[in-house]
Amino acid sequence: MPNISENSILHSVDKLFDHSSSLCHLEDGIKERIKSCNLTVTIRFGVRLRGRVYSFTGWRSVHSEHQHPAKGGIRYAMNVDQDEVEGLAALMTYKCALIGIPFSGSKGALQINRNDWEPHELERITRRFTQELAKRNLIGPSQNVPAPDMGTSEVEMAWIADEYQRLNRLDINAAACVTGKPLSSGGIEGRIEATGRGTQYAVQEFFRSWPNLNKSGLTPELKGKRIIIQGLGNVGYHAAKFLSEEDGCLIQGIIERDGAIYREQGLPVDEVRAHMNRTGGVRGFPDADFIEHGQSLLEKECDILLPAAMENVITSESAPRIKAPVIVEAANGPTTYDADKILKERGVVILPDIYVNSGGVTVSYFEWIKNLGHMRLGLLDHQRQESQNRQIAEMLESMTGVKIPEEQWKAFVRGSEEIDLVRSGLEEMMRKAFGHMLSVYRERNGVDDLRTAAYVLAIETVANAYKSSGI
Ligand code: GLU
Repeated sequence: MPNISENSILHSVDKLFDHSSSLCHLEDGIKERIKSCNLTVTIRFGVRLRGRVYSFTGWRSVHSEHQHPAKGGIRYAMNVDQDEVEGLAALMTYKCALIGIPFSGSKGALQINRNDWEPHELERITRRFTQELAKRNLIGPSQNVPAPDMGTSEVEMAWIADEYQRLNRLDINAAACVTGKPLSSGGIEGRIEATGRGTQYAVQEFFRSWPNLNKSGLTPELKGKRIIIQGLGNVGYHAAKFLSEEDGCLIQGIIERDGAIYREQGLPVDEVRAHMNRTGGVRGFPDADFIEHGQSLLEKECDILLPAAMENVITSESAPRIKAPVIVEAANGPTTYDADKILKERGVVILPDIYVNSGGVTVSYFEWIKNLGHMRLGLLDHQRQESQNRQIAEMLESMTGVKIPEEQWKAFVRGSEEIDLVRSGLEEMMRKAFGHMLSVYRERNGVDDLRTAAYVLAIETVANAYKSSGI
């Protein structure tokens, strides 16, 4: 048996699986097939840098193979291990099944402190890692498609894509070997904001539909809701930006590596981000309280607690003191299994990670389709759009006799650019998945929280795929 510590993400995911699968009518063999990770490869490789060979360790884990390709990010961090990668790969399986995209779950990691290396060195290391993955069929448009995760961004994805394309010159679909690429390498508009955007849609949907809002003392409108967010990285930044700028929420607290800041009237997210880019942290941000022990802000009173960075930040130790009535999990696995139980008993509602942060992989799916279809998204180019709008305007004018001003007819056809299509596709999928999750929560015996509902749905989807493909 591997040594699984109480706070490992694999431990939490396995426990959640056991509990949720006991509510599904499935034979034990199928449950076991779904639960366990199918394959994990440890990759050790050397790169000659600074006049000597440095060794690196990485992993790629394929949790399930009920559909192809397997999908999931690659993280760069020092404190990763095989258990973590396997736990995160399992989350990818359930996330894809819940949101309704035809991928299996996978995850990868490279044990590295990126601050130790210059960009050109990181490029060489990333290219070598890609070669190692390719050698083992752990990357490819039809087998396994990585994406950004903690510690990686579109920059690494561009190197991975280029290296894979170099190794597979005759594969016309090679660009679809990885998602989260820059636009110039075949990426898609809206991928960078996707997880934060999806989080916004999840929050909107929750407050629109949650049946027990009154019981929990919450009101449905988002305007004025007080949010404390943990992590202002890519996910946290976009979620905080959209929720504050578009929905009128107040981002009162931001917890970061060097401490936390708090301002009762709400923090200006873009300015905080600019301050972080300049200084490396939140300390010293003007007109805000600075809290040295940042994690303590998790326990401050607010309407929504939004962990958006690390796993295991809400533990059985902090859970009894959390005051937020709603936790929105934008990070993967931020609440341990034990903490989850305590919070549930205390009546705290958790919008689960496999739902909330599925926006990233959903837009990755759009990017993969775009690459395989060799197409540009967006219905019309600008000129054709304008001429079509003019025709519609003329038609309306002849029917009504009313002249339509130019600025009005020019704005007729909206939502035809790639970014609009991506956002509306994502919104639709987030709303549908919430509806499905809510129905299971309401109708299924034994399901008494949204996380269990999400897992039940996901497990049954995977089970059906395994069953129909003849295991
Ligand atoms: N790393 C992201 C996640 O955990 C995105 C994965 C993907 O796009 O494949 O969901």
